[in-house]
Amino acid sequence: MDLQCVAMASRSSPKMNLLAFLLWALLPLHLGSPLAGKYWDDHVNDILLDHATPTTQKEKERVERFDISRLNYTAIRLELDKGLDIMKKREGRFFGGTRIPRFITDLGKLLDLEQVVNEIETSIMSSVSCNACKAGVGLLQHYVQSGKTKEDIIKAASGFCISFKIETPRVCLGIINLMADEVVYVVENLVMSPDEICGFVIGDICGTPYNPYHKWRVAFPPVPKPPIHHPQPPPTGMPTLKVLHLSDTHFDPEYKEGSNADCNEPLCCRATSGPVKSPDHRAGFWGDYRKCDTPSRTIHSMLQHIAQLHPDIDYIIWTGDLPPHDIWNQTKESNLNILRATINQLIIYFPETPIFPALGNHESAPVNSFPPPFVLDDYGVGWLYEELAYQWLRWLPESSSPTIRKGAFYSVLVHPGFRIISLNMNYCNNKNWCVILWLLLNSTDPAQELQWLIYELQNAEDRGEKVHILGHIPPGHHDCLKVWSHNYYTIINRYEATITAQFFGHTHFDEFELFYDERNRHRVTNIAYIGPSVTTYYKLNPGYRIYYVEGDFTNSQRMVTDHETWVMNLEEANRIGQPRWYQLYSAQRAYNMRNLLPEEWNRLVYKMAIDDDLFKKYLRFYWKNSVAREDCDSECKKRMLCDLKSGRSNDRKYTCAKITEQVEIQERMDWTDWFFSGFTVTYVWVKNLFSFG
Ligand SMILES: [Zn+2]
Ligand SMILES: [Zn+2]
Repeated sequence: MDLQCVAMASRSSPKMNLLAFLLWALLPLHLGSPLAGKYWDDHVNDILLDHATPTTQKEKERVERFDISRLNYTAIRLELDKGLDIMKKREGRFFGGTRIPRFITDLGKLLDLEQVVNEIETSIMSSVSCNACKAGVGLLQHYVQSGKTKEDIIKAASGFCISFKIETPRVCLGIINLMADEVVYVVENLVMSPDEICGFVIGDICGTPYNPYHKWRVAFPPVPKPPIHHPQPPPTGMPTLKVLHLSDTHFDPEYKEGSNADCNEPLCCRATSGPVKSPDHRAGFWGDYRKCDTPSRTIHSMLQHIAQLHPDIDYIIWTGDLPPHDIWNQTKESNLNILRATINQLIIYFPETPIFPALGNHESAPVNSFPPPFVLDDYGVGWLYEELAYQWLRWLPESSSPTIRKGAFYSVLVHPGFRIISLNMNYCNNKNWCVILWLLLNSTDPAQELQWLIYELQNAEDRGEKVHILGHIPPGHHDCLKVWSHNYYTIINRYEATITAQFFGHTHFDEFELFYDERNRHRVTNIAYIGPSVTTYYKLNPGYRIYYVEGDFTNSQRMVTDHETWVMNLEEANRIGQPRWYQLYSAQRAYNMRNLLPEEWNRLVYKMAIDDDLFKKYLRFYWKNSVAREDCDSECKKRMLCDLKSGRSNDRKYTCAKITEQVEIQERMDWTDWFFSGFTVTYVWVKNLFSFG
């Protein structure tokens, strides 16, 4: 297949490839003229789109005002063509972005682009993003099908991006130019409706139109699942392994203290981030809570502290995302240099400690671009996987080389009866355009990674081994494609007796995800720990995790027995000029847990639903005790507790119903308590008043 996705050196942020597509899809709208009634419902031949079910009153109102199902693309495109002609004559003025036709302003408001950008950045999607996606994809399809040149579309898209200040001009132009071939290729080759495309990419919130080609299932060997045994808590006094978890270092070699930390690009705190407008915009010495990554000195400070305070670490798990967020600047070479530099930082402090890495979504250039293995040579991702094999093999056996070279995943026996499997989660990444494109055209298991995982797990089961899984993007995260995530979930549940823990990163928060029996959704089967980021990006303190795992003894299940999160208070470090790393909490002590079996974590989630103080404690740990984070309201609480129950993505209707109900019951009780206690006080006061009168 003539995929050129890697050639598109898109400079996008972690969420930027999807943003780029939506942006792209919406951009031609810039060329229109006033939106009048005639564009609505006049032409029956146009593409009809269903919008997602609105979940809030605000969304309902927006849907009512802007009925995408009645948009007339033929009429709009005619306006766009007129706009293109005008633009060709007045190109300089157009790119100045000073004038936005009212038609576009209205449409921009109705589509709520600011909200769309925010939703894509936070991966918290609503029908706003879905509607924007469907409207944009529909229009873009219409545009490409009517034979417009790529250059025309690039101009329109750039003008729109700059005018609406979605990104700065250099970021807009970078993204759009570099994504153009890819997006036009997708639109030209797909015989899918906007409903199907947006449903596949955005997920459940956008509806899930039936498409048999996207319902692939991995094959299991004809071996019955072993009988389920209730997992036993670890025996007291058993030997343990001490494991360091590092994630999302995002080392920025160009971080500059005193530079502008308040720029409006995906990454600030660099000499190139523009003028510093006021003293409080100056980047801190040890890092900054704004959109800035990690300076070298902070990484060294952390590693030095870990090496001194935890000299007894048995091995390190390292779950990816090494380059900074300067996604419009990156090249293959610059990202390889970051990989080498980060490894050098690590081996200075841990020359003898085994390290088990997993690949992040930022390691490629452009970010999120991981084409499947059959895409070769200049268009493939061999440049990265070859280097990974070279670098990683210093810690791994030669036997892991073929799978690293093929797909950046591997399986390794680390102790007798104990195996670590590292997955490349970029094949489930809904911002990996190369795979999305391939999956949209020919959906199946990219790089046969999940099929390989089953093979490894079956062998482990046959030999009685216990397995830990490492990866970068958590499988239940919205960024993980539904079909991949659901297959993965089935695999975890089939091998629940073998897999005793999973470890991920990517969200930069301190959290976890639970897995449940698909037949009995009340029975929790497994847990994925999500380790905190080293980077402060953004509004976070830097941090790392320590796990204690059952060591070598007869019948060791390799369960995690406790974990600690360690952080540095960035505000204090910049104020007093000295970083202080300290233990923020230990899970067992802080949450008063008997052990760390999945069912104890499940119990904690339900306790948090009714105990607001406990939830606030969790929240403080989730943000790594950052002073830069705001409070979390009731909707936010429901969403966060749902996240903890979501080991598989796009399944919130089922996974979250019960916990949401619990939070709502508690809220009603709180309100009732308040009312009756107020009523009692008033009653007593009135009674006293009359008795004295
Ligand atoms: Zn990251
Ligand atoms: Zn990531």
